[in-house]
Amino acid sequence: MGDSVTLEGIQSSSQTLIGRDAVAVIARVVPDVTGVDKVFDYLVADAMVHEIHVGDRVRIPLHRRNVAGWVVAIGDSSSQFSDVDESRLLHVIKVLGRGPSLEIVQLAQWACHMWAGRLRAFFVASSPSTLVATLPGSRYTQPSSRKKFDADVQVVAAVGLKHTSVLRRGPASGPRALVLSAAQEGPTLVVIPTINRARLMAASLREHGLSVAVMPQDWAIAAGGVDVVIGARSAIWASVPSLHSIIVIDEHDDALQEERSPSWHARDIAVHRAEQLGIACLLVSPVPSLRALHHTSGVVLKVGTEVEKSQWPEIRIVDRRLDERWASSLLSSELIEQLRDHQRRIVCVLNVKGRAKLLACGNCRELVRCDICDAAMSMLGLGELCCPRCAHKRPAVCMGCGSGKLAVIKAGVSRLREELAAAAGRRVEDVVEVAASTAGKSDVEIDQTKMLFVGTEAALHRVRDVDTVVFLDIDQEISAPRYRASEISLTLVIHAARLVARSGSQGLVLVQTFLANHALLRGLASHDLGEFTSDEMSRRKLMSLPPFGALAQLSGKGVDTVADNLRSNVLLQVSATAQDSVLVKAQSWNDLADGLAASLTSSTTSKAVRIKTQVDPPRA
Ligand SMILES: [Zn+2]
Ligand SMILES: [Zn+2]
Repeated sequence: MGDSVTLEGIQSSSQTLIGRDAVAVIARVVPDVTGVDKVFDYLVADAMVHEIHVGDRVRIPLHRRNVAGWVVAIGDSSSQFSDVDESRLLHVIKVLGRGPSLEIVQLAQWACHMWAGRLRAFFVASSPSTLVATLPGSRYTQPSSRKKFDADVQVVAAVGLKHTSVLRRGPASGPRALVLSAAQEGPTLVVIPTINRARLMAASLREHGLSVAVMPQDWAIAAGGVDVVIGARSAIWASVPSLHSIIVIDEHDDALQEERSPSWHARDIAVHRAEQLGIACLLVSPVPSLRALHHTSGVVLKVGTEVEKSQWPEIRIVDRRLDERWASSLLSSELIEQLRDHQRRIVCVLNVKGRAKLLACGNCRELVRCDICDAAMSMLGLGELCCPRCAHKRPAVCMGCGSGKLAVIKAGVSRLREELAAAAGRRVEDVVEVAASTAGKSDVEIDQTKMLFVGTEAALHRVRDVDTVVFLDIDQEISAPRYRASEISLTLVIHAARLVARSGSQGLVLVQTFLANHALLRGLASHDLGEFTSDEMSRRKLMSLPPFGALAQLSGKGVDTVADNLRSNVLLQVSATAQDSVLVKAQSWNDLADGLAASLTSSTTSKAVRIKTQVDPPRA
């Protein structure tokens, strides 16, 4: 319910304007002002009634200032707004430009509740960056005027079914045929992890004779109507008339989730949006996420085994337990063999930040992991091990052979560049270190003429024309305390696979590990992650973690107050994780959203509380 704005003096003038029995048109507006969460009601002058729409950007008076805002709802004082005292309302000053469609405004209201966010954040994501006075006419093309292509029959069938489907295609296969096939049936919205890939795909689609809008810059063209609207994650908020299907390319990719709060995920918005519209949503990935599989009860549309095999580069798992210098060196004999081939361009990936000390059995070399959740365990002292993910404790003995002789795996990171150079027979200056790019700073240009690179996963995004990617220590990723650790590792390997798939000389991904028997790694080597997925599904179910339950992470000043408040809700389970941070679990996403909404509104009345809420946190 909106709060009414009162300003003495103007009150009386609006009363005389409306008259006793006249019906007044009222617009409910969310101000574009940081920190203002409420919506406010305003009168719409007769002259403006025909030019104002839900979603429009307007100018309104608020607290003795004129500010911009968006129209959330329009109604009149005889029906929708019958409980509003119109004599206390001010007028909308001006309609500034067009904004999200009614459909998107409703989608934003839903997302606002589910991700415990502010409505304003969703309006920002779904509005044009410049003022749009009128929408251009539609630019649809006739399928007969487009270039011929081989339609993907599974896509055509899935679009016809009008519900959510998961399509599995190998990392080396491009998604163009999928998009063309869907667009043949009607206007399509495509979400792809990076804006770069969106632009490339748009160019390719235009070449085929389709009209394309690239988000966010073509906001108005998209809203006018085109064959394909494409962009990175925020494209899911594009206003598109007569939408026929939505395609999410690489739905497993974390780039589709907003990092700031509200931490909405384009895949989840896409599924809900398609459901509301009664149209098809196609989730495409070489390694479908557990959330996507949960949506379709595990049903996956895939191509024949031989075809799929041709869509993957070789992924070779290197078992570090078999190596002589197993505990001290990251350079396996297989890696050294690669390094000595000076024709190959090689990227070595090692995430240095937050590296934990891993323990392995000194006898059988098995990595020491939690028997409940699989995370790497650490020594608690006094012969006891502890799991940082689920807090399970057990005696410090090897699960494989019972030996009590455990060794710390020391990877000599600092000397790595020299070691690599020596093994490769190159000068140290010829081994390029790639650091993560820092936001706001322009990247230091990488010397793309060199052949050997070492760095964090950022290297996968910054080096071109790669023949071999080596994960020096994938165990750090797989066994990290985050509950989605193995899915995140999978995303990394798929990035690498895509990179080397373009290599002219037998692209290769080398994965060094102590966990060679892990279902994830065996699945990657054989391109079939069925076993991994079912293992991981049962583990998540056992621990009531997404996609089975819902999860939120709350952090910041005053989080204890909010946590106490949340604990009184029997549908929620609250646990403290680190300083100033708690995890909230619920059986269903709706229970979580309702619980958070109730508790956050009552707790934030205190000015001392400033907390950040991340629903479905990607890295918890
Ligand atoms: Zn052992
Ligand atoms: Zn555990």
